[in-house]
Amino acid sequence: MQTISRENYLKAILKLEGRADIVSNQALADKLETKPASVTSMLHKLADEGWVKHEAYKGVQLTGEGKGIALATLRKHRLWEVFLVEKLNFGWDVVHQWAEELEHIGGEELTNRLDAFLGHPAFDPHGDPIPNALGKWKDGRNLVQASQAEPGSVVLIKGVLNSGEEFLQHLNTMHIQLGLQLIVVQRYEFDDGLVLEWPDGRQATISHETAQNLLVEMKQN
Ligand SMILES: [Zn+2]
Repeated sequence: MQTISRENYLKAILKLEGRADIVSNQALADKLETKPASVTSMLHKLADEGWVKHEAYKGVQLTGEGKGIALATLRKHRLWEVFLVEKLNFGWDVVHQWAEELEHIGGEELTNRLDAFLGHPAFDPHGDPIPNALGKWKDGRNLVQASQAEPGSVVLIKGVLNSGEEFLQHLNTMHIQLGLQLIVVQRYEFDDGLVLEWPDGRQATISHETAQNLLVEMKQN
């Protein structure tokens, strides 16, 4: 179990580093839904391994080695998600939890064979880029949160900021999936809810929170 939680810490730091250079203990505790005291004790262990640099009262940064492990774990996670959706026909709403377990088994050889078997996919079922064997990914997309789209614009759904089961099931109910093109018809001033139009002409309102968790490509302003 020890290894699992260490890799999950490294992944969480990697994701938070995308938003800030130095990640605070508090931000990490929030992300992992644990106590700051547990974070502090784990960070000491990770620092002893040489995977993070940790400064008391400031925060934490991944070392090159730590970043490598985090990217390899993320790669495995996202490839398993593709496998579960594309080859075993599971819905995008249920695969994250299994990938959380599968990402901790096997080594590079298994990951590379899985990658080749799937035809080297660039994105996972939630629209997140998959790192290649060197830990690099190409993401030429320019994505924004749907909440930023102005009325009159046409948006293409490309990703989600929340891959939790409840949110994805909500999207299923709303008939929103990756690759769908929608027209933003109106924004309610009261609560920033968005009225959207589907390709079949049907219209429905999504909440501000849903719009904030949807990543879109702007097709037309
Ligand atoms: Zn996932």
